[in-house]
Amino acid sequence: MSIRDSRDHSQSPEKTAYGQAAPTTKDPKRKSSPAILVCPECGIIQTKKRWFHDAEILESKKKEYLEKLCPGCEAVKNGWVEGEVVLKNRITFLVPQQIENMIKNQEKKALDDDCRNRVVKIQKFKNMWKVFTASVFLARMIGEHLEKQYQSKTSYKFGRGQKYVYVVWE
Ligand SMILES: [Zn+2]
Repeated sequence: MSIRDSRDHSQSPEKTAYGQAAPTTKDPKRKSSPAILVCPECGIIQTKKRWFHDAEILESKKKEYLEKLCPGCEAVKNGWVEGEVVLKNRITFLVPQQIENMIKNQEKKALDDDCRNRVVKIQKFKNMWKVFTASVFLARMIGEHLEKQYQSKTSYKFGRGQKYVYVVWE
């Protein structure tokens, strides 16, 4: 999805890098246009209550955005966790790089649907890894993918009224 604002293109103001303060940052009460929020960490934008990646919108609307951490970056920063995947299968230690890449790939895929699908932390122990995720969805997705990919067994336990999942891969 993209919104083009052709009126702005002829003016072509100089490019602004992410992370720089926008002129309107100090004036959040102004209601003349729909608020565009930009996450200063990962650069995704929110418009119409939804966060998504779209550089074009940012480019055309950059004079009218505010900076706000997206829910995903907020979860990572604060260590908010909704899922835990425990990797006990010995494959983890045979091909650790492959497993780690797989986890990162699943995160990348799931991020398109929801910016909260983030890996918060990976803890590596001698006999197991613990992958903490900011969403139930991503933990389940990683568990399901591991099971399918390697002919193994994944089990799931839900808690906090389905708002937390504990996944074990062995
Ligand atoms: Zn973000």
